Amino acid sequence: MSEKNLEKIISLCKRRGFVYPSSEIYGGFAAVYDYGPYGVELKNNIQGVWWKNMVQDRENIVGLDSAIFMSPKVWEASGHVSGFSDPLSECKKCHTRSRVDHLLEEIDVFADENMTEDEINKIFKKNKDKIKCPSCGSKDFTDAKSFNLLVKSNLGNFTGKWDEEPTYLRGETCQGIYVNFKNVMDSSRVKVPFGIAQVGKAFRNEITARQFIFRTREFEQMEMQYFVEEKDATKEYKRWKKERWEFYVNDLGITEKKLRWHEHENLVFYAKEAWDIEYEFPFGFKEVEGIHNRSDYDLTQHTKHSGCELNYNDPKTNKKFTPWVVETSAGLTRTLFVVLCDAYTEEKVGDDERVVLKLKKELAPVKIAVFPLLKNKPELVKIAKKIFDNLKTKWVCEFDDNGNVGKRYRRQDEIGTPYCVTVDFETIEKDDSVTVRDRDTMKQERVKIKDLEKWFEKKFV
Ligand code: ATP
Repeated sequence: MSEKNLEKIISLCKRRGFVYPSSEIYGGFAAVYDYGPYGVELKNNIQGVWWKNMVQDRENIVGLDSAIFMSPKVWEASGHVSGFSDPLSECKKCHTRSRVDHLLEEIDVFADENMTEDEINKIFKKNKDKIKCPSCGSKDFTDAKSFNLLVKSNLGNFTGKWDEEPTYLRGETCQGIYVNFKNVMDSSRVKVPFGIAQVGKAFRNEITARQFIFRTREFEQMEMQYFVEEKDATKEYKRWKKERWEFYVNDLGITEKKLRWHEHENLVFYAKEAWDIEYEFPFGFKEVEGIHNRSDYDLTQHTKHSGCELNYNDPKTNKKFTPWVVETSAGLTRTLFVVLCDAYTEEKVGDDERVVLKLKKELAPVKIAVFPLLKNKPELVKIAKKIFDNLKTKWVCEFDDNGNVGKRYRRQDEIGTPYCVTVDFETIEKDDSVTVRDRDTMKQERVKIKDLEKWFEKKFV
């Protein structure tokens, strides 16, 4: 898919109410986006499919919804206050700030995310002749400086010097899981191996935020931490890699050949293995989800810093140990972008062209659209309204009587509605049947009104 299609997807998102730039009437607010009526339905559907797969369909994974704000000590223990940073450089000509690892990536030089400021500056200087500012093309940059990504706030601090002792908006959701490890164990009947899953907002002061909703400063994550015995970590890691790949292909219906694995070669000292699932966006293959074997680092760190022992007492062996963690960490808003890119299709229909979102039915924001053939025929409108009122008790439906039916089909195609029901003259004059039109094949079928609900039940199993 080309960059041109990216522009088309962004435009469709705004025009059809999926995603809007934040605070647009005030000129916008960089790297933050709002989700419109269809966007929120799609996002909720993706989240629902993930939650069903991760929590509801499994016996040993439970859910959590921890607060965005936590004690600042959490972020000291996790290493985010000292080490959650990206290397930043400013173009001396136009003052555009860039991530140095991204500038290097453009010329196929790969910097390790664990490098020190000095190490990255050495590589940066060595390649300076080849690196251009993405905004003005200049090659004149300031030295790279580490920039911490945590977003600070004055929550609960009324001193005026809150900046010195800030609270943070969480930079990732999983820390809420680690600090509730004991609570969940004490209040539910989980036994190792078990997992805790959570979906929620995260905030990062991203230096560069281009590429639409791919990288934003406020976003949502879907994370699951699976607690295991050390001896089982490698086996469980392998299993989760397989399961997560299958989620994208089977549960979200993503084109498999647009997915690939990327292995992290230079791991942080505590990590044992790390792979990303990448998707081929219009701007190339990029990470959608990270799957990490994090050893016992997280629970050990929080035990050390809080003084509260986060370990597990095996009731069978009476052995006490600190569980290892296999983490699956996906972006919900980034996944929504994957789903949109993958579903976006342009097709020739006779002499015409249509844009259709070929979304998996479960994900479609609207499941069924109901039309009377003509707006000014009360007898058709009345029947269509009745069908709509009935179907909407079971599925998200939309009633549309505006413009000709061809245009209404196109509108529904653009938002990915799998079925359109049209009440026409045959309905009243002949046999109480309606046409049901399939989004992908565009084939129309006559179905009796009394059989409609059952017909859709079969389609939406
Ligand atoms: P990067 O190196 O690209 O900054 P990361 O490796 O730090 O990202 P993780 O911390 O592993 O990302 O985050 C897990 C997931 O959360 C990512 O795979 C991605 O889907 C999502 N994510 C991370 N940062 C952002 C962001 N700024 N905007 C949207 N989604 C994000």
